[in-house]
Amino acid sequence: MPAPTDASAALFARARAVTPGGVNSPVRAFDAVGGTPRFIRSARGAWLTDVDGNDYVDLICSWGPMLLGHAHPEVQAAVQAAVACGSSYGTPTEPEVELAEEIVARTPVERVRFVSSGTEATMSAIRLARGATGRDVVVKFAGCYHGHVDSLLASAGSGLATFAVPGTPGVPESSTALTLVLPYNDRAAVEKAFADHGDRIACLVTEAAPGNMGMVPPEPGFNAFLAETCRAHGALFVSDEVMTGFRASRTGQWGLDGAVEGWVPDLVTFGKVMGGGFPAAAFGGRADLMAHLAPEGRVYQAGTLSGNPVATTAGLTTLRLATDEVYDHLTRAGDTVKAAVGEALNAAGVPHTVQSSGTMFSVFFTEGPVRDFEDASRQDVAAYAAFFHAMLDGGVHLPPSAYEGWFLSAAHDDRAIGTVLDALPAAARAAAAA
Ligand code: PMP
Repeated sequence: MPAPTDASAALFARARAVTPGGVNSPVRAFDAVGGTPRFIRSARGAWLTDVDGNDYVDLICSWGPMLLGHAHPEVQAAVQAAVACGSSYGTPTEPEVELAEEIVARTPVERVRFVSSGTEATMSAIRLARGATGRDVVVKFAGCYHGHVDSLLASAGSGLATFAVPGTPGVPESSTALTLVLPYNDRAAVEKAFADHGDRIACLVTEAAPGNMGMVPPEPGFNAFLAETCRAHGALFVSDEVMTGFRASRTGQWGLDGAVEGWVPDLVTFGKVMGGGFPAAAFGGRADLMAHLAPEGRVYQAGTLSGNPVATTAGLTTLRLATDEVYDHLTRAGDTVKAAVGEALNAAGVPHTVQSSGTMFSVFFTEGPVRDFEDASRQDVAAYAAFFHAMLDGGVHLPPSAYEGWFLSAAHDDRAIGTVLDALPAAARAAAAA
């Protein structure tokens, strides 16, 4: 039974009168699936409650950050204690040192600098890569999202290894004229780009395991190949772990392949989980590279709220609670959901493929394997929209787009997972009928 949505609809109408599309980030608008976005009043553990009083199992988890679930009592207590001391000083504070130490301990980076969003992290990492190498070209992959940085909102040009065109109005051609966009998992394309332009390439930036076209894991050895190719040409390898960091595993995607294959990124970007649901992100890397940043070096980068004491307290508390047991739980819960989705979609005859990297996964509404953005684009988005709404009616809030990961948390217990499993068969039948 569809739940009442009058209060959400009323808020959405008011929101549209004062905010473009009624939302402050496009995918929240349900444009990809149709209908009225649910305005959430509160959340606890694995559950969201909307302004009409409907409860949903949350499979968005704020698009990644809520690793421990919503309103975790220890995170809340730490944040309340931090706020009671004041909220921003514009001076150095202890929590930012402690969070930096925690990140350095868990990842391959030696120094970190805090910012307030993943966009800022990648933007700053690219400036640093250009400043440190004295080169100007940046390589990225189609389907990888690194925030709304001008030079990275780029679409592939007319051929492989030709410079990109803007992916949105408002980005001047000059901003993407130094960006090369390549197909993911395609070694030949990478080799050609570096053969043609290697001495001009400042860095290659990639999602450590792409999650913004659905989960497309790097083929075995692909990240190592990228790191090696960059090294051979004097370019920097920038691994974007905004989504995978402290989520794909305790040590991010790097812990899954870098630590095993023996490569180390030059620079890494972080966000989401490390902010514990507050605006905090970071970029980091080798000490000698990070030394190019002001005030130590000449590459300028700054922020009024960078390293904010409330945000860094939330992140630090979250990371300290993100133990091996949390990741084991995510693995088990994810395995249960993945198996049940596969079973339900198979029973209904819906073409699909489930892909994962570490504890992260997504469901593509197309036959697999999905290796790159072109494969992902073959999805039946109408089938997903029908599936999404049937799940919502069954009390499960999925990401309102077929191109996103499904996020779980340590708080997704048997009751929450049971609700997901119960909703799946009808949703699969709705997808089949779409
Ligand atoms: N990089 C990646 C891999 C991301 O997934 C995102 C956000 N989805 C960003 C960068 C940008 O982060 P933010 O939305 O905090 O600017």
